[in-house]
Amino acid sequence: MPHPIVLVTGGSRGIGAATAILAAKRGYDVAFSYQSNATAAEQVAEHIRATGRQALVVQADVSLEADVLRLFRTVDEQMGPLDALVNNAGMLEKQTRLDQMDVGRWNRVLGANVIGTFLCAKEAVLRMSTRHGGKGGSIVNLSSAAARLGSPNEFIDYAAAKGAVDSMTIGLAKEVAAEGIRGNAIRPGLIYTDIHTSAGEPGRVDRAKSGVPMQRGGSADEVADAVLWLMSAQSSYVTGTLVDVTGGR
Ligand code: NAP
Repeated sequence: MPHPIVLVTGGSRGIGAATAILAAKRGYDVAFSYQSNATAAEQVAEHIRATGRQALVVQADVSLEADVLRLFRTVDEQMGPLDALVNNAGMLEKQTRLDQMDVGRWNRVLGANVIGTFLCAKEAVLRMSTRHGGKGGSIVNLSSAAARLGSPNEFIDYAAAKGAVDSMTIGLAKEVAAEGIRGNAIRPGLIYTDIHTSAGEPGRVDRAKSGVPMQRGGSADEVADAVLWLMSAQSSYVTGTLVDVTGGR
C-alpha cells in the first residue's frame, strides 16, 4: 500500500513545520517548500526522515507563478501524485495603521497570502480533480482569525488577504465538491511562532493572550492537529468549512 503524499507550503518553520512533521508521523510522505531559510527546512526534513517517511524539500516563493509550477513539477517527478495540499505559506509586515501603508506592501501581502494560495490550489486541482483524471484529494488553506477581526492598528492588509482566502476556500470547495476534492480552511488565533517577530512584536501572543477566552496562546502543534484532521478520511463529509483554532477568540 503506497503512502499518501502531502505538499505543505512554507514547511520550514512554525505551523507548516509542525504540520509536515505530524503528517510524517501519521504515515504521509511529505513534500514541503520554503522561501529562504534553507537551514530550518533541512532540520524539518531530518525530523520527517527520522519517522521513516520520505521528505522532499523545494525552495519556492509561492507568490511567483514560475516557482509554483517548478514546485509542483518537482513533486510530480520525485514523489508522485498528491493526496493533499496544505496552503500554509503566509506572511505579514510590521504593525501599522492603514493610513501609513503603501501599495507595495499591499502587493507583497496579497501576493504571498492570496495569489500564492490561488496558484497552489490551481495546480493541486489540475492534478487531483476527477475532471482532470485525478483521484481526488484534500486542500487545507491557512487563513486567520484576522479575517473576521480585521486587525485594526496592526495589519488590515493581512486581515483582508485572509478574508480573500476564506472566500476562495468556500467557492473552490463548492466548485470541486463533485470532483473528489474537499477544500477547507483553518483560522488560527494567537499561535506561538516567528510570524509575530516579522510583525515587529516577538512578544505579541503573551501581550494579547488575556483577550483570549482560554487565557493562553496556542501552539503550532495544536493547529497541525486540526490540519491533519481536515486532510484525513475522518473529515470525509466536511468541505467549504472555516475551522477556528483560537482558544475561543
Ligand atoms: P512563520 O513562522 O512566519 O513561518 C512562515 C513559513 O512560510 C516559513 O516556512 C516561510 O519560509 C514560509 N513563507 C513565507 N512567505 C513565503 C513565500 N512567499 N513563499 C514561500 N514560503 C513562504 O508563520 P506561521 O505563524 O507558522 O504561519 C503559517 C500560516 O498560518 C500563515 O499562512 C499565517 O498567516 C497563518 N496564521 C498564523 C498565525 C499565528 O499566530 N502564528 C495566526 C493566524 C494565521 P522561510 O522559513 O523560508 O522564511
